[in-house]
Amino acid sequence: MRKNGIISRMNTVKMKKQGTQSLLVTETFYDIEGEGKYQGYPALFIRLTGCNLRCSWCDTRYSYGGGRLIGVPKLAAMVKKSPYRYVNITGGEPLCQKNGVVALIKMCGKNSPGKIISVETNGSVPVSGVPADNISMDLKPPSSGEQKRMVTANLRLLKPKDQLKLVVGSLLDMEWAAAVLKKNPVKCPVIVQPVYGRFGVDRIKRYVMKNRLDWKVSIQLHKIIEKGKK
Ligand code: SF4
Repeated sequence: MRKNGIISRMNTVKMKKQGTQSLLVTETFYDIEGEGKYQGYPALFIRLTGCNLRCSWCDTRYSYGGGRLIGVPKLAAMVKKSPYRYVNITGGEPLCQKNGVVALIKMCGKNSPGKIISVETNGSVPVSGVPADNISMDLKPPSSGEQKRMVTANLRLLKPKDQLKLVVGSLLDMEWAAAVLKKNPVKCPVIVQPVYGRFGVDRIKRYVMKNRLDWKVSIQLHKIIEKGKK
């Protein structure tokens, strides 16, 4: 097990005992989707435990360890009960528990037709075989410190229904991402947004317009909402 491994040894043992039909979960909650094409819609979030990366700006470090095992049928029942159409399976890195995530999506497809299941993944784990309605994949740029972990073969696997998210903290990040995408064009929308509080969205706009990039310029809405709390 690596030092910053995906799941603690103890939890791995627990999962093996219970089979792949359980997922290690940090939290479940309802909130507004802050990013991407479903931005602004209320959603059920299922945050899975464990991540194989350590991004410099990570705001969900609490999901690296701990968590509790919840059976896939129980999670599918939560999806069915949710008053909202949109469901976001996030992390951590949900595809560190790929078998369970695939089982959950399949069960939701049978039990809750009409729900939109999105999987947020960090770009470092193969996305093949994940039957989500929306694979929301990150391309982590240099200021994350994890750009070398990106699996560029994933870019070709994204379909028009998916999305690629770029969270950028510098001009260099945008130059790097533009070069990667020039070599590995994607069929899905590219959505670029600044690391909150670190980089100006005006600089992103200028870069996108100047370079004639077909990227959607956005912001992290949940951070604005959080800041506006009274
Ligand atoms: S991939 Fe996401 S959860 Fe993992 S370290 Fe990066 S920002 Fe944090």
